Amino acid sequence: MNIRIEKTSTPAQKPDQKKLGFGKYFTDHMFLMDYSPAEGWHDARIVPFGNLTLHPAATVFHYGAEVFEGMKAYRRADGQVQLFRPMENVKRLNSSAERLCLPQIDEQDALEAIMKFVEVEQDWVPSEPGTSLYLRPFLFGSDEQLGLHTIQNALFIIIASPVGSYYAAGINPVKIMIETEDVRAVKGGTGYTKCGGNYAASNRAAARAEQKGYSQVLWLDGVHRKYIEEVGAMNVMFRIGDEIVTPELSGSILPGITRKSCLDVLRKEGYKVTERKISVDELVESMKNGTLKEAWGCGTAAVVSPIGELAYGDMKYTVNNFEIGEITHHLYDTLTGIQWGNIPDTYGWTVEIPANK
Ligand SMILES: *Cc1c(COP(=O)(O)O)cnc(C)c1O
Repeated sequence: MNIRIEKTSTPAQKPDQKKLGFGKYFTDHMFLMDYSPAEGWHDARIVPFGNLTLHPAATVFHYGAEVFEGMKAYRRADGQVQLFRPMENVKRLNSSAERLCLPQIDEQDALEAIMKFVEVEQDWVPSEPGTSLYLRPFLFGSDEQLGLHTIQNALFIIIASPVGSYYAAGINPVKIMIETEDVRAVKGGTGYTKCGGNYAASNRAAARAEQKGYSQVLWLDGVHRKYIEEVGAMNVMFRIGDEIVTPELSGSILPGITRKSCLDVLRKEGYKVTERKISVDELVESMKNGTLKEAWGCGTAAVVSPIGELAYGDMKYTVNNFEIGEITHHLYDTLTGIQWGNIPDTYGWTVEIPANK
């Protein structure tokens, strides 16, 4: 793929690596590529970061035709920059695009776009422990008309933001509320895609949970209101007795790359792991009788996030004395170790970015 590169003449001052937070700062450039039925994907370019100009009738504003990805570039101790399972993000982007009738991108081209963009922006990958360069590829419909037709024109963009350690104050258990009113997704809908609309539909429950002092909600399935699905922007796993369980990919759950990686690690190491339906009654029973040993969320942002309290209706249950569990900790150490290059990648998950010279 031919990528035109136009460098900025006014590079920004890099922010203090100890105060990055999440998604507040953006790098000097962005990747863009246009789609039209006549030309397909064309005009791939890396240009100075800046505002977009879009027609006010652009499909994305009215009918929510948008999908995105979230991934990170990590700086190893030897200075090299690397990505973690980037092809998984590419495949999921296309799966999301297919569901929303947005044009898909050739896998190799999309990977090349991500890698070239990170190569250009590599000085922005921070080096403080736990920091990374968060990448946000996104794709949306840009047709300039209000009629409801299949999308003809689209835009694919990648932006990047240096982000701080998720656990600036040490890895800490979170409090989660089981949501009993709103639902996030149903089978046949868009639950398995990373689309902006899923987040819009989640906002109300998340806001109510936050008001009550909970960091996120645990979703139940939209049909029976009975089976565990996932937590906010994370998949969820439980250690009940000597079995590790996680909801099966039913069509309404996001197929997380961190989830998949946790399962791969656990299975390779010989743990008993099951993907299946988990009812909220089973979960509550396991908290009452003490067989729930650990609970954690998993996603790119936090990697692994221990759950210290679960609320269901008027009841509150503490998990593992509000402490980080053994397996939760092991998964965190293993995945972050591979991502930042501190332990050998025996899985072949990391992809190096060529160094600037
Ligand atoms: C992105 C996301 C996840 C986690 O996926 P990863 O690939 O592990 O980052 C889980 N649930 C939802 C709803 C998400 O959007």
